[in-house]
Amino acid sequence: MPGCGTLLGPSWPQFHPIKGLTYLKTACYSLFPTPAPPIATPHPMPSWLLDIQTIYHQPEVLDYQRGREILDTFPRAERIVVDSHWKIPGLNGFEGNLENWNKIKRNVLVLGVKSSLYAQPNSRSSDFIAPSHANGCAMACTYCYVSRQKGFANPITTFVNIEAIMGYLRRHAARQGWKAQPSQVDPKYWVYDLGCNSDCSVDALISDNVRDLITLFRNLPNAKASFATKFVNRDLLDYDPQRKTRIRLSLMPQRIAKAVDVRTSPMAERIRSINDFYAAGYEVHLNFSPVIYYDGWQDDYRQLFDELADVLRPEAKTQLGAEVIFLTHNEKLHQINLGWHPKGEELLWKPELQETKYSQMGGRNMRYKRGFKAGLIDEFSALLKERLPECPIRYAF
Ligand code: SF4
Repeated sequence: MPGCGTLLGPSWPQFHPIKGLTYLKTACYSLFPTPAPPIATPHPMPSWLLDIQTIYHQPEVLDYQRGREILDTFPRAERIVVDSHWKIPGLNGFEGNLENWNKIKRNVLVLGVKSSLYAQPNSRSSDFIAPSHANGCAMACTYCYVSRQKGFANPITTFVNIEAIMGYLRRHAARQGWKAQPSQVDPKYWVYDLGCNSDCSVDALISDNVRDLITLFRNLPNAKASFATKFVNRDLLDYDPQRKTRIRLSLMPQRIAKAVDVRTSPMAERIRSINDFYAAGYEVHLNFSPVIYYDGWQDDYRQLFDELADVLRPEAKTQLGAEVIFLTHNEKLHQINLGWHPKGEELLWKPELQETKYSQMGGRNMRYKRGFKAGLIDEFSALLKERLPECPIRYAF
């Protein structure tokens, strides 16, 4: 693994605008200081969402401070030692656990050590997808792709080797140098998505991984963290991100969220939180994802945009940006959802309006037909511009 010395590669001259630096290897320690060791704090636990009774963990989890902290947070939970955090017998393999889908999300936690650390290049919501500090989720959105990747039992898995994950990110960011060109992702910083496989606001109820990552990005001169969320966790208001973390609040009309955003924070609470998160030092963008087509969707979105326009303070409005992602569904997920939540499928599964796209994994994904979707994107964009003109769309698809 290349270390800080890689700063001296081709991108190194881009660092010159920083005043007062002594170049050569010592510079990277000035640019990318190691954060102070994390302090464990008690986490208030909304019991409707999380009531951890069973913890599966790899034996080596006990070798890590973060692992011991988490086990201490849930002293009454039964501990089951497993060889791997992945494909746990009796847990993963959804069929047998269908009836317990949400119970498992609420009562089970998996602790593991992440072995492969890799920042995947990305182009829409971020420049890179950071190596996961967690995967899985205690919430239960019926369109969620994370569950498809986890053998259809999808409790939170938290990775306890957070120091290694942060060290990797520190070195990776150092290798990038300064961003040469502004992009729709961000005009200035390289943006790393921390929450592609989990919801960071819920992960922060389990451990200080998210706090540590936000602290790390606060101190990286050329990089910013970002994550989408559907849960309002006010603990994050104390993390002092200094505008180096972008929260992307995920929004849709409440009456649709009731059917598909299972176990998430109500829309009005998410909207109200934007002012507070902005005041606490976050950048806050809007993540309209997924946008679901149904008769009358325009009226509901008009109402949603008007609520945003009414509630947001001027300073929170002017820093907004939006990403708009129309629904992609999946045939296997559809079959499973029919077993526990058929109501949501009436909205998600519309073969007459959708076309098939096979994923790289061979799964059959369903997206709105191309021409139809182009019209929906145009309509959505015009509506947002009309009702909330302060909010530019970063990308829509
Ligand atoms: S909040 Fe995100 S990660 Fe959690 S279930 Fe919903 S879509 Fe999946």
